[in-house]
Amino acid sequence: MAIYYETVSSGVYLKGGKGGITFTMDKDRRTLIKSLRRHDISERVLDAMERVPRHLFVRDGAREYAYADRPLSIGEGQTISAPHMVGIMCDLMDLHDGIKILEIGAGSGYHAAVIAELIKPSGHIYTVERIPTLAEFAGKNLRAAGYSPFVTVHGGDGSLGWAEYAPYDGISVTCAAPDVPAALVEQLKVGGKLAIPVGRMWQELYLVERTEHGMDKRKVTSVAFVPLIGKYGFKD
Ligand code: SAM
Repeated sequence: MAIYYETVSSGVYLKGGKGGITFTMDKDRRTLIKSLRRHDISERVLDAMERVPRHLFVRDGAREYAYADRPLSIGEGQTISAPHMVGIMCDLMDLHDGIKILEIGAGSGYHAAVIAELIKPSGHIYTVERIPTLAEFAGKNLRAAGYSPFVTVHGGDGSLGWAEYAPYDGISVTCAAPDVPAALVEQLKVGGKLAIPVGRMWQELYLVERTEHGMDKRKVTSVAFVPLIGKYGFKD
């Protein structure tokens, strides 16, 4: 017997069904996406987010909150980012079919899945995660949700980037750095974009564009992310 999770306005209940364990939370997902419109996120990104089952990227005990617009614990002191932040960051990056993206901070794999929705079928996203159990968690979630053909998860220090597959059309950093790591800018194509939170207590999201001779950098908004820990990040 399969189990379906179906949502009602006040929460989640279990219902029997056929064909393996399936979770259906479509109604809550639609409500969430509607609420994200006030953040001026593009319809294309919202459509992509509507296709990604966020409840497959959260820990078992947090499933009923999967479609709340807030970060949730994924263990190891880390979080899956709030949906509006994922939408805002995706919108900054000019994501389209066929491009190659690097993400730093795979966490649950959710943000990578939304990016995959925007760059598939020919694009690919490489995502690096420092904490081995989370790299495993992200890989498992991405497989379960059907994104493994478009996403490669790597365990390691993402403050160094991932030179093996560089240059990238875009880099999305989901943890806050002390400054923009030069290694990441070097791994961008000219014209490529890097979205990165910078700061410790007070953080700003920056959009960096690689130019022929260096980079252009502009502030987007104030944010609150967990720290980037690593050689070109904060110390552990
Ligand atoms: N993108 C994630 C998601 O959708 O669930 C959210 C990730 S969480 C806000 C930030 C992640 O960055 C954490 O999982 C953390 O372990 C990771 N991180 C911190 N420093 C890192 C580094 N140097 N390299 C790779 N990952 C790092």
